[in-house]
Amino acid sequence: MDSFVTSKARPRKTEKRRISSVASKTRWAAASTRWLEIGVPAHAEAVEAVSEILSRYGHNGIAVELPLAPRGGADHTVKAYLVEDADAAAKVADARDALGHLQAFGLGPIGELAVRAVDDEDWLEAWKATVTPIHIGRFLVRPTWSDATEEGAITIALDPGMAFGTGLHPTTQQCLEAVSYLDLEGMRVLDVGTGSGILAIAAAKRGAREVVGVDTDPLAVRAAKENAQTNGVAIDARAGSAADVDGSFDVVLANLVGPVLVQVAPHLRARLRSSGSLVAAGITTEAEREVLSAFVAEGLGIVDRDERSDWVRLVLTA
Ligand code: SAH
Repeated sequence: MDSFVTSKARPRKTEKRRISSVASKTRWAAASTRWLEIGVPAHAEAVEAVSEILSRYGHNGIAVELPLAPRGGADHTVKAYLVEDADAAAKVADARDALGHLQAFGLGPIGELAVRAVDDEDWLEAWKATVTPIHIGRFLVRPTWSDATEEGAITIALDPGMAFGTGLHPTTQQCLEAVSYLDLEGMRVLDVGTGSGILAIAAAKRGAREVVGVDTDPLAVRAAKENAQTNGVAIDARAGSAADVDGSFDVVLANLVGPVLVQVAPHLRARLRSSGSLVAAGITTEAEREVLSAFVAEGLGIVDRDERSDWVRLVLTA
């Protein structure tokens, strides 16, 4: 699960705001914890690779500070926060080492890794400042501590520390866009791999009559339940996968990864009513052909396809 989150943790390259962030599913640590902030200046081209490295060590994901005006060179800063414990020095050394290897690939300039001790409050405030509301399709996804609203937008409030699915990842965005345009009024919706519950909550807010969310990670199920409550919608969140659900759904959402989609394809199909819509995402362009074959073998055909940053989202129907 963690490796899944990490592999999906990519900063957005076209961010207009000064700061973007990528959250992981890790919860806040205990209040007395001491933190180290590690910061690495990096060229835009190297941000993604540096983020990937830091996200292996950081506790609550990574933050990317973008320059107000691009200056070229290492004008972005990638930051991660890690607990200052007995392993911290070794982790910093590992990160330095991995960054050194990256530089050898010649991926644009990468500056020196800087380490700074921060107290809890600083860290929490610094972290919160990196999480800004984001507009996707008909939705405005905002952190729970923000009161941002937008005319005509459907608000989803999520604590980004709780679970993957803050709406920042391209695959989540692609699914939210599908949830924006599909007719969900009075429909039954199944969300497989619900994570934070973001897609299930979005479906409920678009008028779905009944929304079931399943996840193999019990922590995700708990987070999805809490998030549904925060957002004032009812979702039936349960531990398990598509095979553990009965009945027929008008819309099935599945933001997983390619190999898992292939594995669960028959179960996704079995839950979909005829001429219902399956939204499948988390598919790398590389895995697309194999995933599509698995769906075609189940009698499904493509009605819509979206590709973004090497991620493909399909909408299929039976
Ligand atoms: N739906 C959210 C989260 C996607 S992350 C979003 O779109 O942002 C994928 C989630 O799928 C994770 O929470 C993971 O625990 C869960 N998962 C992985 N394999 C699964 C499987 N076979 N069945 C159900 N859930 C699974």
